[in-house]
Amino acid sequence: MPELPEVQALASTLTQRLAGLRLAAFEIVAVSALKTADPPYTGLAGERFLGASRFGKFLALEFTGGSWLVIHLARAGWLRLTDRVPTAPARPGRGPLTARLVFVTEAGEPAFALDLTEAGTRKGAAMYVVRDPSDVPGIASLGPDALDLDAELLAGRLRGAGRARIKNAIRDQKVIAGIGNAYSDEILHAARISPYAPADGLGQEQYADLADAIVAVLTTAATRAEAADPTSMKAEKKSGLVIHGHTGDPCPVCGTAIAEVALADRSFQYCPTCQTEGKPLADRRMSRLLK
Ligand SMILES: [Zn+2]
Repeated sequence: MPELPEVQALASTLTQRLAGLRLAAFEIVAVSALKTADPPYTGLAGERFLGASRFGKFLALEFTGGSWLVIHLARAGWLRLTDRVPTAPARPGRGPLTARLVFVTEAGEPAFALDLTEAGTRKGAAMYVVRDPSDVPGIASLGPDALDLDAELLAGRLRGAGRARIKNAIRDQKVIAGIGNAYSDEILHAARISPYAPADGLGQEQYADLADAIVAVLTTAATRAEAADPTSMKAEKKSGLVIHGHTGDPCPVCGTAIAEVALADRSFQYCPTCQTEGKPLADRRMSRLLK
Protein backbone atom coordinates (compact mmCIF):
# COMPACT_ATOMS: atom_id res chain seq x y z
CA MET A 1 0.00 0.00 0.00
CA PRO A 2 2.20 2.83 -1.20
CA GLU A 3 1.63 6.14 0.61
CA LEU A 4 3.27 9.55 0.35
CA PRO A 5 6.84 8.41 1.20
CA GLU A 6 6.91 5.58 -1.34
CA VAL A 7 5.30 7.64 -4.11
CA GLN A 8 7.71 10.50 -3.39
CA ALA A 9 10.64 8.08 -3.64
CA LEU A 10 9.32 6.63 -6.89
CA ALA A 11 8.93 10.13 -8.36
CA SER A 12 12.49 11.13 -7.56
CA THR A 13 13.97 7.79 -8.63
CA LEU A 14 12.13 7.79 -11.96
CA THR A 15 13.18 11.38 -12.62
CA GLN A 16 16.82 10.59 -11.85
CA ARG A 17 16.96 7.47 -14.00
CA LEU A 18 14.60 8.16 -16.89
CA ALA A 19 14.42 11.91 -17.54
CA GLY A 20 15.45 12.72 -21.10
CA LEU A 21 14.71 9.24 -22.44
CA ARG A 22 12.09 8.73 -25.11
CA LEU A 23 9.02 6.56 -24.62
CA ALA A 24 9.11 3.97 -27.40
CA ALA A 25 6.06 1.94 -26.37
CA PHE A 26 3.19 2.11 -23.88
CA GLU A 27 1.67 -1.36 -23.69
CA ILE A 28 -1.48 -1.81 -21.66
CA VAL A 29 -2.15 -5.35 -20.53
CA ALA A 30 -5.10 -4.78 -18.15
CA VAL A 31 -7.31 -2.48 -20.20
CA SER A 32 -9.62 -1.70 -17.27
CA ALA A 33 -6.77 0.12 -15.48
CA LEU A 34 -6.83 2.93 -18.07
CA LYS A 35 -9.46 5.43 -16.92
CA THR A 36 -9.27 8.00 -19.74
CA ALA A 37 -9.94 7.93 -23.49
CA ASP A 38 -9.05 11.47 -24.53
CA PRO A 39 -6.25 12.23 -25.25
CA PRO A 40 -5.55 8.72 -26.60
CA TYR A 41 -2.86 6.85 -24.68
CA THR A 42 -1.22 5.89 -27.98
CA GLY A 43 -0.19 9.52 -28.38
CA LEU A 44 2.38 9.18 -25.57
CA ALA A 45 4.68 6.93 -27.62
CA GLY A 46 7.48 8.94 -29.20
CA GLU A 47 7.40 11.65 -26.54
CA ARG A 48 10.34 12.37 -24.25
CA PHE A 49 10.05 11.89 -20.47
CA LEU A 50 10.60 15.17 -18.60
CA GLY A 51 10.23 14.04 -14.98
CA ALA A 52 7.83 12.75 -12.34
CA SER A 53 6.01 14.52 -9.54
CA ARG A 54 3.72 13.51 -6.71
CA PHE A 55 0.20 14.71 -5.95
CA GLY A 56 -0.97 13.14 -2.70
CA LYS A 57 -0.57 9.42 -3.42
CA PHE A 58 -0.74 9.94 -7.21
CA LEU A 59 2.41 9.71 -9.33
CA ALA A 60 2.43 11.98 -12.39
CA LEU A 61 4.85 11.41 -15.28
CA GLU A 62 5.30 14.43 -17.55
CA PHE A 63 6.12 14.03 -21.24
CA THR A 64 6.87 16.44 -24.06
CA GLY A 65 3.86 17.32 -26.16
CA GLY A 66 1.96 18.53 -23.08
CA SER A 67 0.85 15.10 -21.90
CA TRP A 68 0.94 13.45 -18.53
CA LEU A 69 0.55 9.85 -17.44
CA VAL A 70 -0.89 9.80 -13.92
CA ILE A 71 -0.73 6.55 -11.96
CA HIS A 72 -2.50 5.58 -8.74
CA LEU A 73 -1.02 2.39 -7.28
CA ALA A 74 -3.97 1.68 -4.94
CA ARG A 75 -3.46 -1.22 -2.51
CA ALA A 76 -1.23 -3.62 -4.32
CA GLY A 77 0.18 -1.77 -7.32
CA TRP A 78 3.89 -1.21 -7.76
CA LEU A 79 6.36 -0.01 -10.38
CA ARG A 80 9.34 -2.12 -11.35
CA LEU A 81 12.20 -0.72 -13.37
CA THR A 82 14.58 -2.97 -15.30
CA ASP A 83 17.31 -2.31 -17.83
CA ARG A 84 16.74 -5.80 -19.24
CA VAL A 85 14.11 -4.68 -21.72
CA PRO A 86 11.96 -7.58 -22.96
CA THR A 87 11.97 -7.87 -26.75
CA ALA A 88 8.47 -9.39 -27.07
CA PRO A 89 5.44 -7.15 -26.46
CA ALA A 90 3.62 -7.54 -23.14
CA ARG A 91 0.62 -9.85 -23.42
CA PRO A 92 -2.45 -10.29 -21.25
CA GLY A 93 -2.09 -13.22 -18.89
CA ARG A 94 -2.63 -14.27 -15.33
CA GLY A 95 0.44 -12.46 -14.07
CA PRO A 96 0.46 -9.17 -12.19
CA LEU A 97 1.61 -7.09 -15.20
CA THR A 98 -0.83 -4.23 -15.82
CA ALA A 99 1.13 -2.04 -18.22
CA ARG A 100 4.66 -1.58 -19.54
CA LEU A 101 6.49 1.54 -20.65
CA VAL A 102 9.59 1.02 -22.77
CA PHE A 103 12.13 3.85 -22.75
CA VAL A 104 14.88 4.24 -25.38
CA THR A 105 17.91 6.48 -25.80
CA GLU A 106 18.07 9.23 -28.40
CA ALA A 107 19.78 6.70 -30.68
CA GLY A 108 16.82 4.35 -30.24
CA GLU A 109 18.64 1.84 -28.02
CA PRO A 110 16.39 0.14 -25.45
CA ALA A 111 17.26 1.61 -22.02
CA PHE A 112 14.59 0.68 -19.46
CA ALA A 113 11.26 -1.08 -19.12
CA LEU A 114 8.97 0.32 -16.43
CA ASP A 115 6.32 -2.22 -15.44
CA LEU A 116 3.16 -1.37 -13.53
CA THR A 117 2.26 -4.53 -11.63
CA GLU A 118 -0.61 -5.32 -9.33
CA ALA A 119 -0.88 -8.38 -7.11
CA GLY A 120 -4.11 -10.07 -6.06
CA THR A 121 -7.54 -10.31 -7.59
CA ARG A 122 -9.03 -7.03 -6.33
CA LYS A 123 -7.62 -4.65 -8.92
CA GLY A 124 -7.55 -0.98 -8.04
CA ALA A 125 -4.52 0.50 -9.80
CA ALA A 126 -5.50 3.28 -12.20
CA MET A 127 -3.85 5.14 -15.08
CA TYR A 128 -4.92 8.46 -16.57
CA VAL A 129 -3.53 10.11 -19.71
CA VAL A 130 -4.29 13.82 -19.31
CA ARG A 131 -3.17 17.26 -20.45
CA ASP A 132 -2.94 18.44 -16.85
CA PRO A 133 -2.72 16.45 -13.59
CA SER A 134 -5.70 18.37 -12.20
CA ASP A 135 -7.85 16.73 -14.91
CA VAL A 136 -7.74 13.61 -12.70
CA PRO A 137 -10.76 13.88 -10.35
CA GLY A 138 -8.86 12.35 -7.42
CA ILE A 139 -6.16 15.02 -7.77
CA ALA A 140 -8.60 17.91 -8.22
CA SER A 141 -10.27 17.06 -4.90
CA LEU A 142 -7.07 16.62 -2.83
CA GLY A 143 -6.70 18.55 0.40
CA PRO A 144 -3.39 20.25 1.26
CA ASP A 145 -0.35 18.01 1.06
CA ALA A 146 0.68 16.36 4.33
CA LEU A 147 4.21 17.75 4.00
CA ASP A 148 2.90 21.33 3.71
CA LEU A 149 1.00 21.30 7.01
CA ASP A 150 1.56 23.46 10.04
CA ALA A 151 -0.42 23.31 13.28
CA GLU A 152 -2.89 26.01 12.27
CA LEU A 153 -3.68 24.60 8.84
CA LEU A 154 -4.00 21.09 10.27
CA ALA A 155 -6.32 22.24 13.06
CA GLY A 156 -8.53 23.99 10.51
CA ARG A 157 -8.74 20.93 8.26
CA LEU A 158 -9.51 18.57 11.15
CA ARG A 159 -12.09 20.84 12.78
CA GLY A 160 -13.77 20.87 9.37
CA ALA A 161 -13.92 17.06 9.50
CA GLY A 162 -16.23 17.26 12.53
CA ARG A 163 -16.69 14.24 14.80
CA ALA A 164 -15.05 11.81 12.37
CA ARG A 165 -12.49 9.59 14.07
CA ILE A 166 -9.05 11.12 13.69
CA LYS A 167 -7.69 7.88 12.20
CA ASN A 168 -10.19 8.26 9.34
CA ALA A 169 -9.90 12.02 8.99
CA ILE A 170 -6.13 12.08 8.43
CA ARG A 171 -6.47 9.30 5.83
CA ASP A 172 -9.22 11.18 3.96
CA GLN A 173 -7.42 12.52 0.88
CA LYS A 174 -9.87 15.42 0.66
CA VAL A 175 -8.90 16.53 4.17
CA ILE A 176 -5.11 15.92 3.94
CA ALA A 177 -3.30 14.40 0.95
CA GLY A 178 -0.79 11.57 1.18
CA ILE A 179 -1.48 9.53 4.35
CA GLY A 180 -2.93 5.99 4.36
CA ASN A 181 -3.61 3.19 6.81
CA ALA A 182 0.02 2.35 7.67
CA TYR A 183 1.49 5.79 8.25
CA SER A 184 -1.59 7.04 10.10
CA ASP A 185 -0.81 4.38 12.75
CA GLU A 186 2.79 5.57 13.01
CA ILE A 187 1.76 9.24 13.14
CA LEU A 188 -0.94 8.85 15.80
CA HIS A 189 1.43 6.79 17.93
CA ALA A 190 4.19 9.41 17.60
CA ALA A 191 1.69 12.11 18.65
CA ARG A 192 0.24 9.91 21.46
CA ILE A 193 -3.31 10.38 20.19
CA SER A 194 -6.08 7.73 20.21
CA PRO A 195 -7.14 6.63 16.71
CA TYR A 196 -10.75 7.07 17.85
CA ALA A 197 -10.38 10.66 19.09
CA PRO A 198 -12.82 12.99 17.31
CA ALA A 199 -11.08 15.04 14.61
CA ASP A 200 -12.51 18.32 15.89
CA GLY A 201 -11.93 17.59 19.58
CA LEU A 202 -8.18 17.96 20.08
CA GLY A 203 -6.53 20.72 22.09
CA GLN A 204 -4.26 23.30 20.44
CA GLU A 205 -1.17 21.53 21.72
CA GLN A 206 -2.35 18.18 20.34
CA TYR A 207 -2.90 19.66 16.88
CA ALA A 208 0.65 21.03 17.06
CA ASP A 209 2.05 17.64 18.17
CA LEU A 210 0.10 15.95 15.39
CA ALA A 211 1.39 18.37 12.73
CA ASP A 212 4.95 17.76 13.94
CA ALA A 213 4.42 13.98 13.92
CA ILE A 214 2.97 14.01 10.38
CA VAL A 215 5.96 15.86 8.94
CA ALA A 216 8.56 13.93 10.98
CA VAL A 217 7.17 10.44 10.26
CA LEU A 218 6.63 11.06 6.54
CA THR A 219 9.95 12.84 5.99
CA THR A 220 11.90 10.05 7.72
CA ALA A 221 10.04 7.41 5.73
CA ALA A 222 10.56 9.25 2.43
CA THR A 223 14.30 9.53 3.09
CA ARG A 224 14.43 5.81 3.85
CA ALA A 225 12.42 4.92 0.74
CA GLU A 226 14.54 7.15 -1.49
CA ALA A 227 17.71 5.42 -0.29
CA ALA A 228 16.30 2.08 -1.46
CA ASP A 229 15.97 0.79 -5.01
CA PRO A 230 12.35 1.04 -6.21
CA THR A 231 12.20 -2.71 -6.74
CA SER A 232 12.98 -3.35 -3.08
CA MET A 233 11.03 -0.45 -1.62
CA LYS A 234 8.12 -2.56 -0.45
CA ALA A 235 10.31 -4.54 1.91
CA GLU A 236 12.04 -1.36 2.97
CA LYS A 237 8.77 0.33 3.90
CA LYS A 238 7.76 -2.58 6.10
CA SER A 239 11.04 -2.41 7.99
CA GLY A 240 10.51 1.28 8.76
CA LEU A 241 7.13 0.81 10.42
CA VAL A 242 7.25 0.32 14.20
CA ILE A 243 3.52 0.20 15.06
CA HIS A 244 1.56 -0.71 11.93
CA GLY A 245 1.57 -4.47 11.36
CA HIS A 246 3.25 -5.08 14.74
CA THR A 247 0.39 -6.53 16.80
CA GLY A 248 1.76 -8.09 20.00
CA ASP A 249 5.27 -6.62 19.65
CA PRO A 250 6.50 -4.33 22.45
CA CYS A 251 5.84 -0.63 21.89
CA PRO A 252 9.23 0.98 21.12
CA VAL A 253 8.43 3.81 23.56
CA CYS A 254 6.90 2.07 26.61
CA GLY A 255 7.16 -1.69 26.00
CA THR A 256 3.40 -2.38 26.18
CA ALA A 257 2.18 -5.01 23.71
CA ILE A 258 0.85 -3.26 20.59
CA ALA A 259 -2.89 -3.83 20.18
CA GLU A 260 -4.94 -4.34 17.03
CA VAL A 261 -8.34 -3.22 15.78
CA ALA A 262 -9.73 -5.56 13.11
CA LEU A 263 -12.21 -4.09 10.65
CA ALA A 264 -14.00 -5.78 7.78
CA ASP A 265 -11.37 -5.03 5.14
CA ARG A 266 -8.25 -4.08 7.09
CA SER A 267 -6.72 -3.84 10.50
CA PHE A 268 -4.71 -1.25 12.33
CA GLN A 269 -2.51 -1.05 15.41
CA TYR A 270 -1.96 1.25 18.39
CA CYS A 271 -0.29 1.30 21.81
CA PRO A 272 -2.86 1.26 24.64
CA THR A 273 -0.44 2.90 27.11
CA CYS A 274 0.82 5.68 24.81
CA GLN A 275 -2.47 6.41 23.08
CA THR A 276 -5.64 5.31 24.89
CA GLU A 277 -4.88 5.49 28.64
CA GLY A 278 -4.76 1.71 28.73
CA LYS A 279 -8.25 1.22 27.33
CA PRO A 280 -8.76 -1.26 24.48
CA LEU A 281 -10.56 0.10 21.41
CA ALA A 282 -13.69 -1.69 20.26
CA ASP A 283 -13.53 -3.68 17.04
CA ARG A 284 -15.72 -6.19 15.20
CA ARG A 285 -14.52 -9.16 17.21
CA MET A 286 -15.15 -7.36 20.47
CA SER A 287 -18.65 -6.25 19.51
CA ARG A 288 -19.44 -9.86 18.56
CA LEU A 289 -18.36 -10.96 22.01
CA LEU A 290 -20.46 -8.27 23.68
CA LYS A 291 -23.68 -9.24 21.92
ZN1 LIG B 1 3.61 2.72 24.08
